[in-house]
Amino acid sequence: MAEDTTQQTKDNVVKVHKCPICGKLTDNIKYRPFCSKRCADIDLGTWFNEGYVIEGKNPVDEEESE
Ligand SMILES: [Zn+2]
Repeated sequence: MAEDTTQQTKDNVVKVHKCPICGKLTDNIKYRPFCSKRCADIDLGTWFNEGYVIEGKNPVDEEESE
């Protein structure tokens, strides 16, 4: 009589997705596609970090080189 479980699952239907940061399966839709705020922050940090690196390649000196 394992059918009982099916009923419970139907009522508790959740869509799980895979967090692109840590690869964990999660049903947290608040921070989709991430599993948590932490992973969302990590993704954001990556973007900021890339922007920072690009900016760092352009020293302020260049503006004065004329
Ligand atoms: Zn994650």
